This record gives sequence, structure tokens and C-alpha cells, in this order.
Amino acid sequence: MRRLYTIVPLILRDDFLCYNTNVNLADLLKRSLDSSLLDLIHRIADESSALGFPIHLVGGSVRDLLLARPIVDLDLTLEGDAIKLGRALVKKYGGDLTTHEKFFTATWTPQFSNSQILDLISARRETYPHLGALPTVTKSTLDDDLRRRDFTINAMAIRVDSDHFGELYDPLHGQSDLEKKLIRVLHPNSFLDDPTRIFRAVRYAERYGFTIEPETLKLINDDSRKVLSGLSGERLRHEFDLIFEEPNPSAILKQLFDVDIFRAVHPQLQVTSYKLLPPEEPSPTYGEFAVPDMLSFNQTLCWVLWLMNSSLSEIEDVAERLAFPVLLTNTVITASALKSDLPSFKNWKPSQWTFHLDDLPSLSIFAVYLVSGESALSDYLSKWQHVKPITTGDDLKARGLEPGPRFGEILRQLRAAWLDGEVKTAEEERQLLASLLKN
Ligand code: ATP
Ligand code: MG
Repeated sequence: MRRLYTIVPLILRDDFLCYNTNVNLADLLKRSLDSSLLDLIHRIADESSALGFPIHLVGGSVRDLLLARPIVDLDLTLEGDAIKLGRALVKKYGGDLTTHEKFFTATWTPQFSNSQILDLISARRETYPHLGALPTVTKSTLDDDLRRRDFTINAMAIRVDSDHFGELYDPLHGQSDLEKKLIRVLHPNSFLDDPTRIFRAVRYAERYGFTIEPETLKLINDDSRKVLSGLSGERLRHEFDLIFEEPNPSAILKQLFDVDIFRAVHPQLQVTSYKLLPPEEPSPTYGEFAVPDMLSFNQTLCWVLWLMNSSLSEIEDVAERLAFPVLLTNTVITASALKSDLPSFKNWKPSQWTFHLDDLPSLSIFAVYLVSGESALSDYLSKWQHVKPITTGDDLKARGLEPGPRFGEILRQLRAAWLDGEVKTAEEERQLLASLLKN
């Protein structure tokens, strides 16, 4: 079944050659990966060969290589024991190894390669104890490993150990579907086993401009929606989080809505008219993440933009269904309230805006700015929030004032004067302070 692939047929980007008859996969790999990564693959592959384990690049990395897209992570799958390979690599090259015995995988961080993290995965078979359950994993062949996957375009492997370097293994005809730009499941029960694949199908279709193959599309039906509606909030939210890292999340949500998936997640989820396109480069002034360590800036922003127009009870319901971290729920609720309160702030002075906004997550403020264009919000984020008087608490103490509420009030009045342009120099601040202290 394995063959050396000599013609890379379709490179699907419009600006790229359609047929490149002179390229074989070994060459393509050498041209697409930088030399240090290639060197790393060779070292791993040699070690794997020595242990008698054939080793392959699989899944997304093969797909993206054939699409001439940047390869994000290297998934290396071997027919054998990935943990044993990991230990052999550490013995020879050092570095850190994390093992996951239950899944027969290891993560190796070699010392010599800019902390590149490598996932070493033993080829495995997966069975689903019941529909929608997490799978039971057993060690198996590459063939089984490809057959447990989501779509044909993600079920190809390229062998990377020396004599076989560049051999494509494509038993499920993924390459043909890449040419036809089709997202196709591997078997009719795929979405029942794991309905999160419905999200994945739409995500890939939008990312690559592909179509969901008609038979696959028919499998997004009431049966798979029913299994999907029984999935945990964490699993479902994770799928949305992945969508929010894509270049055009709105288009993906629209497609999911069109195939009637939202209803299965939560009846109150609707499409939004806002473009969920996060700004290219979030300015550092907005850089305070709402949910550190859990959600990225883009993810948080997309959630806020998506749900901001919902009522408080709708937001709370969705947050509960999708197991939002508390901080995310608060950021959405705050944005929603700020947006509906905006008309009543119309004639506010900068100090009023600032004292109100100081207590709110900056990401809520930023989201409301994006949809309302209210310049006070961007002024706050870029300037006002950083305005402080020259006088400090220590200065007040040095003048014999006892720390207490009046302390804070004086500093607040000095700050307000700067914000509202009533004080513009250190001398003017000194005069204002003198008069406040007199009172
Ligand atoms: P991306 O560019 O989004 O990372 P990817 O193909 O690398 O795409 P991952 O989520 O990183 O996707 O998963 C790696 C591979 O694991 C996929 O290519 C696919 O073969 C397989 N896979 C991931 N999730 C599933 C799933 N739910 N069901 C079956 N196979 C899956
Ligand atoms: Mg990946």
C-alpha cells in the first residue's frame, strides 16, 4: 500500500503552481521545514528506526505541507512505543520528557532546539464506549491510527525514517479530497462517535475554502445533534475557543448556525451582526487579558462581542451551559451593561468616564469601543487610565496628613483636575493641593 510519491499534484493556493511535476515529497519536506527542524526529525527518526519503529508525520502537518501552508505543529506517530522512543532520545540528547502512559504518548523538549516541543505518539486505535463518550485507546498500527481520525484530509501520513523518507501513506484517499477541496468523514458514524467533529468540519471548510462533502453534510442531522447536545460544557466551549483563533470566526459561526448546530448547544445562541474579527495587532494598552492562562485575547474578545447584545439572563444561561470561567462571564456581563449604559454617559467629563471605567475589565471596554466607536472609551484605554497626579500618598503623609478616606479623596481630586484639563503643570497641581489642604 505504501508508495513513494513523486508528483505533488495540487497546491491549492491561487498564487501557487497547480501542478509541480518535479517535486517529490522528500524534496517538499526539505524545502518546507527549516533546517534545524529537519535535523530534529532526522535524529528522532534514526532513533525510532534503531528501535524498529516506523515513524511518520501525520494529520494536520501532512495536510498543510500538501497545501503549501505553514506547518504549525509536527505530529509524529510511530508504530511502536512512543514512551520508549522518548526515553532513548533523552538518553542520547538530554532534554525533558513528559509521558502519558494511558495514551502511549510522550512529549520531548530537547535542549538543543530552541525549546521546540515534540509530541511523540504511538499509533493507536480508538473505540467509543458510548456515543459522544471520550474514546478508549489501545496501541495499534498506523492504519488503525489513520482510521480513527476525523476527515480524509487529516488521515494521511508521510514516513520520515531514513530509507523511507518521503513515502506517502494515504489509504483513505485524503489527497484526492484535498484536490477536490472536500471535507469528508471516514465513516457514517463519525459524528455520532464524536460530534465535536461537526465544529471541526466547518472550521476546516472555512479556513481552506473547502466544501463539506454532501454525504458528510447529511450526517449533520438530528441524531448527531442529539449526541452533541449531551456533550459537556467544557468540550463544547473548547470548540468555540478554537474557532475564535481562526482568521474569520464570524463566517464559521454563520455556517454552524446554518446547519442548525447552535440549537443543540443552547437554544438562546444566535448569530450576531458584529464582525468577530479581532484587531490584527491588539495595542499593548488593551493587552490586559480578561481570563489569564485560560483564554487568549482573541478568544475572550470574540466571546464578549458575540454575547454582548444578549440579556443578562441569556448570558448567564449560556455561561452556565458552556462552563465559562467566572472572569469570562463577568467580562461579557460588564460589556453588555456598559454598552446599554453608554447613552446616559454622553456629557460626562473625562474624570467621570475614568472613575467609572477604572473598575471594569479593559477588555469589556475595548469590545464596547469596537462596536460603538465611542471615542471616550479609546481615550480612556490609551491615555486617561494612565493619568496620575504627581503628588503621592507619601507626599501627603510627609505633610502631616493621616492616611484615611480624605487621603484618597485628595488624590482623586488631583487626578480629576489633570484629566479634565483644570491642572496642566506641576505648579498648578501644587496650588490646587494647597487649596484642598486648606479646606
Ligand atoms: P490545526 O491546524 O487546527 O491544528 P490539526 O489537523 O493539526 O489542525 P489538531 O486538532 O491539532 O488538528 O489534531 C491533530 C490531528 O488529530 C488531526 O489532523 C486529526 O487527524 C486528529 N484529530 C483531532 N481531533 C480529532 C477528533 N475529534 N476526531 C478524530 N480525529 C481527530
Ligand atoms: Mg494541530
